[in-house]
Amino acid sequence: MKILNYINGEYVEPVSKKWLDNYNPSNGEVYSQIANSNSEDIETAYQAAAAAFPKWSNTTIDERSIILLKIADLIAENLDKLAEAEAKDNGKPLSLASAVDIPRASANFRFFGNAITQFASEAHESVGLNTINYTLRQPLGVVGCISPWNLPLYLFTWKIAPAIAAGNTVVAKPSEITPMTAFLLGEICTEAGLPKGVLNIVHGSGPSAGQAIVEHPNINAISFTGGTKTGEHIARTAGPMFKKLSLELGGKNPNLIFADCNYDKMLKETVRSSFANQGQICLCGSRIYVEKPIYDKIKKDFVEKVKQLKVGNPFDEDTNLGALVSKEHLEKVESYIQLAEKEGGKILFGGNRVRIKGLENGYYLEPTVIEVFDNECRVNQEEIFGPVVTIMPFKTEEEALQMANSVKYGLSATLWTTDLNRTMRISKGIESGIVWVNTWLNRDLRTPFGGMKASGLGREGGFEALKFFTEQKNVCIRY
Ligand code: NAD
Repeated sequence: MKILNYINGEYVEPVSKKWLDNYNPSNGEVYSQIANSNSEDIETAYQAAAAAFPKWSNTTIDERSIILLKIADLIAENLDKLAEAEAKDNGKPLSLASAVDIPRASANFRFFGNAITQFASEAHESVGLNTINYTLRQPLGVVGCISPWNLPLYLFTWKIAPAIAAGNTVVAKPSEITPMTAFLLGEICTEAGLPKGVLNIVHGSGPSAGQAIVEHPNINAISFTGGTKTGEHIARTAGPMFKKLSLELGGKNPNLIFADCNYDKMLKETVRSSFANQGQICLCGSRIYVEKPIYDKIKKDFVEKVKQLKVGNPFDEDTNLGALVSKEHLEKVESYIQLAEKEGGKILFGGNRVRIKGLENGYYLEPTVIEVFDNECRVNQEEIFGPVVTIMPFKTEEEALQMANSVKYGLSATLWTTDLNRTMRISKGIESGIVWVNTWLNRDLRTPFGGMKASGLGREGGFEALKFFTEQKNVCIRY
């Protein structure tokens, strides 16, 4: 099977005539070929988007909204097909793709289909000066959206939906590691009546297709989600071109657990926040810090619970952890487990590959819990992005906060306590864009989403996303 580009409403072969292998992580086999687009393909996609822009940007809000809501419906109607495609392409459990990834992709279109009907610009009456100012919020033109492999359709649509809702036309590239559901989105958009050229989906590697999008002189904004190193590179290219940039990057999120927490709820959610999607969610809590008096108890109970998690075929109903996304990624995660041992960490559970009968070449790894004794060790400082979590004790609130903040990242943090004053103190002091208290990955799509420090630039979600995808122009009239 060939994963083709979707340009101007048609599936087309890449001009580059180059292809990449697409692997099924659950068995390590190549099961399709991905177009590896080059700058000529991006130019073709750009031309289609540019031609569609004048009409789309003048299409009424109601009409745009109706089309977005239709796309949302069609994603929901195709839930089984899309969830199966996602599980096969990414290695994640089918149960997770069916309950989280695909419903959220549908929700993204529904949310922005509705949000655009409520988005308004401001006016300022300058009393005494006889002037009125009103601020236009106009679409940017052709914008580029680039997304990663961990939540493929979920994050791809999180960018595309606000971009087109705001009247832009789009050249979008999913990760070359998980292109399948983005490929399938093309036919859904056609069926929903999205005009040709409004959304163009191009496939290919970062250095080839991604770089060509970022470098294109007339693609006016880049909304990127991916690794911090890639984000740095994109910023270096797009910055001097004065493109609008939204960067959602890596994380190394702390999970602070105090002795007064609701213990059972905390334990259950901490297992989930450590290992959901094989730990491959930018928001996973990868550093667990526990208040000293309950440290030994948690360590024991947590490991007991982790032992019960089943690593298995993504298509089995009782699988908790599926396969990691690729062989390279599996090897990277394993290298951190080896490093942990060299750095003096103690593997409390896991650390080994798992062989699944009939799927011996799949990329399976045990959920791994590492006790660390020094917050500055690399395993506690660098993003591993796999089923690996560290645990260590703290004595005081100040120490907990200091350790939580002493990494270069600042995406999210989770706090387990029933003390309101402490909740407010820590939430104020913690360096992260998102703080969850007594919960994790609890999302209201209206809220600002994004990170500080090396976790990114700007916020997605709600009106923040619609603001990003529009340019403000103030008009001052004297009467
Ligand atoms: P990645 O940076 O390797 O790739 C992300 C995307 O960028 C892919 O589509 C890739 O092809 C493209 N790309 C690579 N080089 C490029 C270049 N030179 N120019 C343009 N595009 C290029 O990231 P990944 O491995 O796919 O994803 C994992 C990372 O994403 C982790 O660091 C994770 O924390 C992060 N992430 C962040 C968030 C968030 O919301 N902050 C969400 C999910 C994942």
